[in-house]
Amino acid sequence: MTTAMTLPETSERYDRRQALELLADLPMGELMALAHRERVRRFPGKTVTFVVDTNPNYTNVCATGCAFCAFFRQPGDADAYLLDPREVAQRVKIAADKGATTVLLQGGHHPRVGLKDWQAYIEAIHSACPQVHIHPFSPAEIAFMAEKTHCPVSEVLQALWDAGIRTIPGGGAEILTESVRRVIAPRKAGTEQWLDVCEQAHRIGFKTTATMMYGHVETDGDIIAHLLRLRELQDRTQGFTSFIPWSFKPGQSPLARRVKHPVHPARYVRIIAVARLVLDNFPHIQSSWFSENIPAGQLGLLAGADDFGGVLVEEHVHREAGHDRQATVANVVTIIRRAGFIPARRDSHYRIRETFDPPVTVGTGGGA
Ligand code: SF4
Repeated sequence: MTTAMTLPETSERYDRRQALELLADLPMGELMALAHRERVRRFPGKTVTFVVDTNPNYTNVCATGCAFCAFFRQPGDADAYLLDPREVAQRVKIAADKGATTVLLQGGHHPRVGLKDWQAYIEAIHSACPQVHIHPFSPAEIAFMAEKTHCPVSEVLQALWDAGIRTIPGGGAEILTESVRRVIAPRKAGTEQWLDVCEQAHRIGFKTTATMMYGHVETDGDIIAHLLRLRELQDRTQGFTSFIPWSFKPGQSPLARRVKHPVHPARYVRIIAVARLVLDNFPHIQSSWFSENIPAGQLGLLAGADDFGGVLVEEHVHREAGHDRQATVANVVTIIRRAGFIPARRDSHYRIRETFDPPVTVGTGGGA
């Protein structure tokens, strides 16, 4: 080490101050090397996983109106929509025919969509594509459903469990501090509610991911507070499978009036590295071609990430914010290989289903 930072011994954890120093001060090369070392210690070998998924947002109607969101519409807007279960199932079928193995099912907080509608979506998808893993409804959506229907969160979760659901996407976390949520998502489930839904889900047996959306009004301290809240909960439940960060895309969102430019992709790489080091109880850290751009996604793989996210067959939320990216399995395999890793397609439980050829190694001469 060339810096004066006091890094913990291997068996110790980064505390708040040390984590802040990592994020704010450690030179980029050192931070990436440190995180990569930890990744290799946790996952020896060069495998980088990805999943082929689809995200047919079932509605863009939302009563919550987050300031960062360019996707939502008010009921009655000309382009407001609510898909019926048959339409959702048809879209999933089309995606499954193109290779999708998982459907990430999320939508706006629609005031008139009830638990029975959610069950109807699940049943329709399951009967049209029984082989597709259904990964539905963020903790924020579940909290909204519980409030709206005056039903305890535990009952909403139990209904999903009884419908055969076993994993839940960790969307809606944004930044888990109230000072930030008051500005960017004042009507959305708060920090404690979001964490409580995850904790109850983990206790039932669900696995969930955890997300973070940064690059707006948060401070470094907010990012570290977010990571530490996740780590504390993971210590209790071991229910998180992965951490998935992405940056705020101003697009046409109301928050774009205040935050005009997206943050530099180098910030993404730093956050992935810090997450690998601080979230010492999380198995997987995701770096994605989709969230930022291909080079940032590749650099994230050299900064502690072991997963490359999804090859999305259908997606609307980022597209509405002007962030339109498409890739095929062949593209993603090439991108991972060119970063020096061995691509492997996984399922939503992070089980490897198919391993692709390793990257070409260029010899340095000599040999027999
Ligand atoms: S982020 Fe989700 S909850 Fe917030 S306005 Fe958009 S759709 Fe609604």
